[in-house]
Amino acid sequence: MPLSEFDLIDRYFRDCGARRDDVLLGVGDDGAVLGVPNDRQLVAALDTLVDGVHFPRGCAPTSVGHRALAVNLSDLAAMGATPAWALLGLTLPAADEHWLDGFAQGFRALACRHEVALVGGDTTSGPLCITVQVLGFVSRDRAIRRRGARVGDAVFVTGSPGDSTLGLALEMQRRADPGSAAARELRGRFLFPTPRLEWGARLVGLATACIDVSDGLLGDAGKLAKASGVRIELDRESLPISAAAREVAGEYDARYAALTGGEDFELLFTAPAALAAEIETVLCDGVRAHCIGRVLAGEGAIVSSAGSVIDVSHSGFDHFGR
Ligand code: ADP
Ligand code: MG
Repeated sequence: MPLSEFDLIDRYFRDCGARRDDVLLGVGDDGAVLGVPNDRQLVAALDTLVDGVHFPRGCAPTSVGHRALAVNLSDLAAMGATPAWALLGLTLPAADEHWLDGFAQGFRALACRHEVALVGGDTTSGPLCITVQVLGFVSRDRAIRRRGARVGDAVFVTGSPGDSTLGLALEMQRRADPGSAAARELRGRFLFPTPRLEWGARLVGLATACIDVSDGLLGDAGKLAKASGVRIELDRESLPISAAAREVAGEYDARYAALTGGEDFELLFTAPAALAAEIETVLCDGVRAHCIGRVLAGEGAIVSSAGSVIDVSHSGFDHFGR
């Protein structure tokens, strides 16, 4: 017998995250009742993943569950917020138990790791689509914003951008072939990205502005520059390229992927240049941050190489063409 909507929610989502004392009423009523600490502000974010658009059709359900939450936690990380609660809007073509098992497992593992409680949602039938909303806390007036970068600041990025987009390309082409250790590592970076929450918390009071990299370093640097009313110059040679990306794609394409590839969920931030040496020694979420550029007067985001501005055209690298 197919699962009823009620049974499905009860089986998979009543207990699909951390238990928290501040959840006064969770899944099962018309709304959740949540206890908000007096001295904190709420930070809210929401992201939707559409089958075949934000992940390849047939993508492993544990990865879909993980990513649906991870992309939202990454937004909170960029604000310097600590996540607490999530809501899940799930549209499913069918109540496929194998898929739901995997999805719930991927979601729950990440939620528990960051002490996030799933407190409600909605379940409907239709083309596969997942919307997650997360709520978290920051101390009063301490949220890190996209605006705030100052001329003279240094620009940093956590981890090794570009890995995820290379991993997606491998995933699309050769799903059945596990490939080399480097290929597996890159695929893991697409399928199970790590939201940089430890970094985000560390950057409160340190970063002047921050954004999480979802649309590519260059594009997101442009958004930060616009919000801050400054120009951002990224230094192509300073981009931190992983050994795996270098091995799989070669030096040139790996740098191109770092600048233009999406879905890295690393943090791009600015801070006073005098703090650069100190920031580069910090290890959070298992990764370091590297200084990759500077904030100038003007507008837009540009890339320089060996002292001159270069045109990062979209001709050098094709995710799906090789
Ligand atoms: P209503 O019709 O009043 O909106 P629903 O029958 O849709 O209620 O949901 C019943 C309960 O289950 C609510 O508490 C809702 O938040 C929760 N819920 C529904 N779908 C999900 C889901 N996918 N994940 C978590 N909670 C869910
Ligand atoms: Mg209701």
